[in-house]
Amino acid sequence: MARIVMKFGGTSMAGTERIRRVARIVQRQQAAGHEVAVVVSAMAGETDRLVNFAREANPLYDPAEYDVVVASGEQVTSGLLALTLQALGCKARSWLGWQLPVRTVGAHAKARIDDIPAEALIASMASGEIAVIPGFQGLSDDNRVTTLGRGGSDTSAVAVAAAVKADRCDIYTDVDGVYTTDPRIVAKARKLKTVTYEEMLELASVGAKVLQTRSVGLAMKEGVRVQVLSSFIDDDAPPADSIPGTMIVSDAEVEGQDMERQLITGIAHDKNEAKITLTRVPDKPGSVAHIFGPLAAASINVDMIIQNVAKDKGETDVTFTVPRTDLARSLAMLEAKQSEIGFYRLISDAHVAKISVVGVGMKSHAGVAATMFKSLADRAINIQAISTSEIKVSVLIDEDETELAVRVLHTAYGLDAVDAAA
Ligand code: ADP
Ligand code: ASP
Ligand code: MG
Repeated sequence: MARIVMKFGGTSMAGTERIRRVARIVQRQQAAGHEVAVVVSAMAGETDRLVNFAREANPLYDPAEYDVVVASGEQVTSGLLALTLQALGCKARSWLGWQLPVRTVGAHAKARIDDIPAEALIASMASGEIAVIPGFQGLSDDNRVTTLGRGGSDTSAVAVAAAVKADRCDIYTDVDGVYTTDPRIVAKARKLKTVTYEEMLELASVGAKVLQTRSVGLAMKEGVRVQVLSSFIDDDAPPADSIPGTMIVSDAEVEGQDMERQLITGIAHDKNEAKITLTRVPDKPGSVAHIFGPLAAASINVDMIIQNVAKDKGETDVTFTVPRTDLARSLAMLEAKQSEIGFYRLISDAHVAKISVVGVGMKSHAGVAATMFKSLADRAINIQAISTSEIKVSVLIDEDETELAVRVLHTAYGLDAVDAAA
């Protein structure tokens, strides 16, 4: 017997018929002799709808009230799943974020889970009851509803798994595992049997939205075994123990096991960034601090940064990227500080995409970046910025070339599945 946390995403929970399928998957898992807790997302599209309501009600919304509105989608699906499980004859109850409670810290709309008391949950699971928990929501120090940031139900699931010391956290979604790249973009994408925490963390942080980045960081820290698999399976499919999803594993688990492991694990794209260039910034100590200090103070995350070598007049251009949603705010802030920073022109471009190749193999192999640059050059794709980490190379390109770039790189690194259609 194992203790298993199962998480179902928005597409899996989209409507009563889909919820019935989910309930049957959960019922089968319990019938296989396991203790089960389930974490659910809102129905697909529901959180977007709720975000829009909050914006329409008040464009300068109070984040605490925004959280009250957007957390409600998960309340609906957790109740509906508990009802559906009961209709199948299972013992089930919902546990809302404030009831457990899922204690969070940090700002509204991007709160972080601090603690989940597990006694009540463990007792409920041990008694044969299925615990159904709405993902994405928590409770602040001052007992207000909080949410964890978009895609946050993955993090809720991993946190519940860590709290109840689950043997596994199964993330059920609308694809049957983690692929070498988004299978909705590249038909030749290959499903990976295993991905290391480190690789998955990097892939998620550069745009592979199959898992929320923070859920992977938490799983790595807490040693939670995470499996990604599909909820779109037949009613007579075997329980998750024998379904080939993708396991997220530690470095030690792959070393020496997977002889066919590729140099590059995967490729991700991200269309959520925008590029800003400041021209003719004085090349002297403090200039860059004047640019990035105010952005940091406003909690705007700067990602890629390039500063050119100074030209004859002791001036240089500085280019960087910010989240697209923060572009207007960043521009207004920089314009207001033009004389202090001393730049000449402020240029922005929201029509960009970041393409990243990720793989632990590149730690010990030269030439990964060179292959990337050459493959893109052969297709006349211009690189506007570059950034690297120990296991990742990212480039910024024109948004229109995203799909082409991902496909070209997928082939260049030998990742294409042999048996897939072109
Ligand atoms: P859920 O609603 O279940 O949380 P998401 O939409 O958040 O699902 O994540 C699943 C989606 O992630 C897939 O439909 C797929 O398009 C996308 N995706 C992006 N990169 C990858 C990848 N490398 N492997 C698998 N799916 C990916
Ligand atoms: N419903 C939330 C969202 O759409 C959380 C989640 O699905 O993970 O972002
Ligand atoms: Mg998701």
